[in-house]
Amino acid sequence: MSDPIDEILALYRRKGELSYGEGVTMSAHALQAALLAEQEEAGNALVTAALLHDIGHLLQDEPEDIAESGVDTAHESVASAWLSQHFPPAVSEPVRLHVPAKRYLCATEPGYLDELSPASVLSLKLQGGPMAPAEVAHFAAEPFAEAAVRLRRWDDLAKRRDLATPAFEHFRPAMQQSLRR
Ligand code: FE
Repeated sequence: MSDPIDEILALYRRKGELSYGEGVTMSAHALQAALLAEQEEAGNALVTAALLHDIGHLLQDEPEDIAESGVDTAHESVASAWLSQHFPPAVSEPVRLHVPAKRYLCATEPGYLDELSPASVLSLKLQGGPMAPAEVAHFAAEPFAEAAVRLRRWDDLAKRRDLATPAFEHFRPAMQQSLRR
């Protein structure tokens, strides 16, 4: 069986130059999110989650800017299902919850929605819009709710065209340490 980390790195080598849709590539978006996590000393599992939170887009082979065609691809479910084969919930759960975290923040944090990028606002509609009060309570009770909210904020910021990042190899040790034993 091949090493999952080699598999991940190969996937980003093959498809990482695809557009994320907001002026950055999938790889740049992933690396920026992971760098922000690392700068906040988030720990190996959450750095790994930040790096791989959108791996669902690469696994799915979908066209760019798919939200514009009115399709919610549930990339967070694809990603967390794939990641949970190799990583513990501390990695896969924040990834699964990073879209609900956006809906949660829209419902609970005044001004959050106004700061979202146009593409994020568009996909929000497909994802169900801001959470209703019962959904907010359910989300807040998730064991990895707080981690998912942190990941969401890095995700929102990881869309810069001018941010230099390390290469994927820089994050190999964090991924390695996070693997399921
Ligand atoms: Fe993202």
